[in-house]
Amino acid sequence: MELGSSELSFIIEKVLKEMNQRELKEEVSDGIFDTMDEAIEAAYKAQKKYAEYSIEQREKLIAAMRKAIIDNAMEIANLCVSESGMGRVDHKYLKLKLTAEKTQGTEILKTEAYTGDKGLTLVEHGAFGVIGSITPSTNPAATVACNSIGMLAGGNTVVFSPHPGAFNASLTMVRKLNEAIKEAGGPDNLITAVKQPSLENTNIMLKHEKIRMIVATGGPAIVKMALSSGKKAIGAGAGNPPVVVDETADIKKAARDIIAGCSFDNNLPCIAEKEAIVVDCVYEELIKEMKTNRAVYELNDEEAEQMVKVVLTYNKGKNTYSVNKQFVGKDAKYLLQNIGKTNIEGIECLIYRTENSHPFVQEELMMPILPIVKAKDFEEALKFAAQDEHGNRHTAMMHSKNIDNLTKMARAIDTTIFVKNAPSYAGIGFGGEGHTTFTIAGPTGEGLTNAISFTRIRRCSMVESFRIV
Ligand code: NAD
Repeated sequence: MELGSSELSFIIEKVLKEMNQRELKEEVSDGIFDTMDEAIEAAYKAQKKYAEYSIEQREKLIAAMRKAIIDNAMEIANLCVSESGMGRVDHKYLKLKLTAEKTQGTEILKTEAYTGDKGLTLVEHGAFGVIGSITPSTNPAATVACNSIGMLAGGNTVVFSPHPGAFNASLTMVRKLNEAIKEAGGPDNLITAVKQPSLENTNIMLKHEKIRMIVATGGPAIVKMALSSGKKAIGAGAGNPPVVVDETADIKKAARDIIAGCSFDNNLPCIAEKEAIVVDCVYEELIKEMKTNRAVYELNDEEAEQMVKVVLTYNKGKNTYSVNKQFVGKDAKYLLQNIGKTNIEGIECLIYRTENSHPFVQEELMMPILPIVKAKDFEEALKFAAQDEHGNRHTAMMHSKNIDNLTKMARAIDTTIFVKNAPSYAGIGFGGEGHTTFTIAGPTGEGLTNAISFTRIRRCSMVESFRIV
């Protein structure tokens, strides 16, 4: 069959139009795809391109990402809070700024070299490929930003599966980072995600053959799923950090630091002070110091009993409690309103004197409620702290000037982060030394993750050459 010239020009026009559309689509890719398969495929292709990039080029893109995080920090901090209904805008902003400033890049990927009679061996940090990263509702943007920097520094691309309860904040961060990468001359789709995150999509990701590593930041269920995926997995799980105060502590400073750490982002951070254990002889003094802060309100027994009923659910058959999600990350004013205290203003932290077995101590509340337990001596404080941490190996704090006690606690509690004489957030580089991360891998042992955590160790041996001694 022969085609006439008008038919031919119609077909050519159609083909050109489709090609243009495809190019246009590629040009405007913001990394967000309709399906998980598409998001993974795009990140896979992008990783092949990215593998050709030099370390210097990677750093150029990372510098642009850092700038984008700061430039958009306020907008995204607002979105995190308005969408999830959790946390504080001012503190979300600080977390994003910290991410931009103190997340490590390629500079930590140091090569090792061995030389000897047999020649030269190099040990280098190579990319995994495409990483699947699952992020929590409690920190939807800074986790995306921080993991993106570390994962791209390691030469990987990343597909995010954010929590469905805060996905707009996570996806906005993905878009902003991709825009910045593009403007800096980088390829599309180094960072991708699915338009409508869901548990089903997370499951697809966990099983997908093109995902070479899973990084799960969240509670025990998702960490367990990641570790059962059959892939290399990093699990950054739950905490319930205790803070211990002994008789040698600077009590004024301890009171200040504990309240600051406990009320930061309405106690959402997994590292935040969740319960205080104080030796008998300074117990009253510490509480008195805390109450000099006008933002602190002490609950009496009746109020605490009401609060338990509001923020926790008692599971009768199992004799356990579970946390009512609608109160997670809410501010103290809202918590007080829900027990009928409607006329109290300016409160940031609720404290309550109680026993170590109280559910406020044992449950990871993630609300600005600080139960304060009295221990007869340091040994008992240590015992309580270890019980309350539940073997999470996450975070603990201590206020003391007794180096023997500090050392004993550090060893006994066996956590990934141990902060001495400072608020908890000093342990992630906020007012403390060291890099920051929002993926703290206790269960799998990477600790405060960085680009090294997201690489594979590769060896390259050259025999009988390149030896100069
Ligand atoms: P979460 O466990 O409910 O959710 C975390 C992620 O896992 C989300 O993306 C969620 O969609 C996914 N998920 C959970 N259950 C799933 C299932 N059955 N199937 C598929 N996907 C599933 O946690 P959250 O409430 O969003 O975050 C708070 C928890 O995360 C706290 O326990 C906190 O301590 C922990 N956390 C840990 C770190 C760390 O670095 N170790 C950092 C932030 C938060």
